[in-house]
Amino acid sequence: MSITHHPPEDLLADLATGALGEAEHLVVGVHVAGCARCRRFVQAMEQLAGEALENAEPAAISDGAFDLLMARIQEAPPRDTRPSEARNVDEEEHRDLPEILRRCRLGKRRRVAPGVSVQPIDLPGRGKARAFLLQSAPGTRMIEHTHTGTELTCVLKGSFSHAGGRYGPGDFDYGDEDIDHRPIVGDEGPCLCVVAMIGDLRMNGFFGRLISPFVRL
Ligand SMILES: [Zn+2]
Repeated sequence: MSITHHPPEDLLADLATGALGEAEHLVVGVHVAGCARCRRFVQAMEQLAGEALENAEPAAISDGAFDLLMARIQEAPPRDTRPSEARNVDEEEHRDLPEILRRCRLGKRRRVAPGVSVQPIDLPGRGKARAFLLQSAPGTRMIEHTHTGTELTCVLKGSFSHAGGRYGPGDFDYGDEDIDHRPIVGDEGPCLCVVAMIGDLRMNGFFGRLISPFVRL
């Protein structure tokens, strides 16, 4: 895997300190799992954060804090371990996904535009961003769009290109409201990406405005 596009360093730092929301954590985590360079950066950040903690003055803990904490742990709802029906449907297809994604529960895949389908990733917490797998047929020309929030993408299979260059397996793409792009999927095969999105897509141009109400990602 030759990775040429990496997440910005502030996202990697936030991953190391656990400051990212679940969806963003997942997408940055998928990239880092496959990228030795970013993994080294994240490990260095984790080490720095650990040292900072070790050197910090111990804070006084109020009486009863331990009991309170234990009570909270006992109160915490048990982890939901019900098997998801939807997940099994695509298990076969997603067997070669990165480990971190295979542990996720996937919702039902649905078609959102010609050649484009979306499969939501069921995350237990409630972050601001949604995560999903986005699959596009070879040669699909995505409609020109901008974002009302941010969009984090990591390519799993296939490729796409836009003004920022070509994005192949492992590559990370960061989009926000300032970026106006029109990705084209490579011809070598379907393109599968894991995406974390805050806000919505805004389609540009006449056709985009026309179909925009129907494209609910
Ligand atoms: Zn990287």
